[in-house]
Amino acid sequence: MGLGYVRAEQAHVGATGVSMKLAARVEQVSPSMTLAIDAKAKAMKADGIDVCSFSAGEPDFDTPAHIVAAAQTALAEGKTRYGPAAGEPKLREAIAQKLQRDNSLCYGADNIAVTNGGKQSLFNLMLAVLEPGDEVIVPAPYWVSYPEMVKLAGATPVIVPTTLENQFKITPEQLRQAVTPHTKLFIFNSPSNPTGMVYTPDEVRAIAQVIVEQNIWVVADEIYEKILYGGVEHLSVGAVGPEIYERTIVSSGFAKTYAMTGWRIGFLAAPAPIIKAAAKIQGHSTSNVCTFSQYGAIAAYENSQDCVTTMLSAFAERRRFMLHSLQSMPGLSCPTPNGAFYMFPSIRDTGLSSLEFAERLLDYYQVAVIPGIAFGINDCIRLSYATDLETIKVGMERLSKFLHSL
Ligand SMILES: *Cc1c(COP(=O)(O)O)cnc(C)c1O
Repeated sequence: MGLGYVRAEQAHVGATGVSMKLAARVEQVSPSMTLAIDAKAKAMKADGIDVCSFSAGEPDFDTPAHIVAAAQTALAEGKTRYGPAAGEPKLREAIAQKLQRDNSLCYGADNIAVTNGGKQSLFNLMLAVLEPGDEVIVPAPYWVSYPEMVKLAGATPVIVPTTLENQFKITPEQLRQAVTPHTKLFIFNSPSNPTGMVYTPDEVRAIAQVIVEQNIWVVADEIYEKILYGGVEHLSVGAVGPEIYERTIVSSGFAKTYAMTGWRIGFLAAPAPIIKAAAKIQGHSTSNVCTFSQYGAIAAYENSQDCVTTMLSAFAERRRFMLHSLQSMPGLSCPTPNGAFYMFPSIRDTGLSSLEFAERLLDYYQVAVIPGIAFGINDCIRLSYATDLETIKVGMERLSKFLHSL
């Protein structure tokens, strides 16, 4: 046994009386509760327990074959080296064209930074623009990482709770009231994770008007823009007019639309100085996104979108079934979600907290859902229907039994 060898059980912090003081920024950040429930459900499954899990935050489909093939070709062609931090020029160009074509947003390749998922695009943005004292308006329920990213960047999240009665959408008046002289950004996520709500074009225009009038910026997280049902339309807030366009930053990615969560590809679109700053940060942290992954992403945008239509019709069938079930259960009120792959019913009438509800449902009925408290709202739960129809059928029966037992 050589010098310097430490037995594993002795290696943990504090075993020898020595411990590193952690940075204050870590103490302020909460661990991801969605991952914790998911981990418990997976551990139960591994023990042979038949769990119906509605906790997934990702499509259950495999990445479409033509996208996989494009990455395989890139690998075979030696696209295995470092590339530019802001992304392969061809992908930046394809993203700019997509934003023009689909979203009426006028961007060139130098307005785009390719990032390790939509998550890193937001993180880079926060680090690039926020300082201590800055406030960021975040409507609740929110995607779990928004407030934590704001805090990691040293700024202050200002949480604005929305209501079931307003379909969990922030109203223009609520937004106006939340603005202070310190407000820098407003995070606008439509279609929404966790609620599945989609702001109508009129609602988007009304929100845009407040942003311009209050002279703040908006970051539009549009990662679910293609996952829509019932004929609703997605309007990019930056496309409302020239004044809002100048104050808009778009964050999006390939994970949800093309079932590419593990590929880690997202992007930021913004005025060039912001992109330069975000790319500078990326250049000193993760460098470029995996080079051959980016070639898969190019294929996703440049080829037929039939694969998206196919996944959407599967989601639509599951959504119909789950929504019908939830809306007929005692103790739940579930607004109709027109986007993403989530439902966000209120459990207010059960009198349970979201954590109690989720824990009892998992422990006694083997159904995994995410407690609303993870998203800043304690009287709701989130169910993902990115799972097979059979699981949804069995899970809805168990949930119904649980509710009748209360
Ligand atoms: C999944 C998700 C993202 C980003 O996911 P990546 O895998 O990092 O691309 C961003 N915002 C919301 C609301 C999401 O649900």
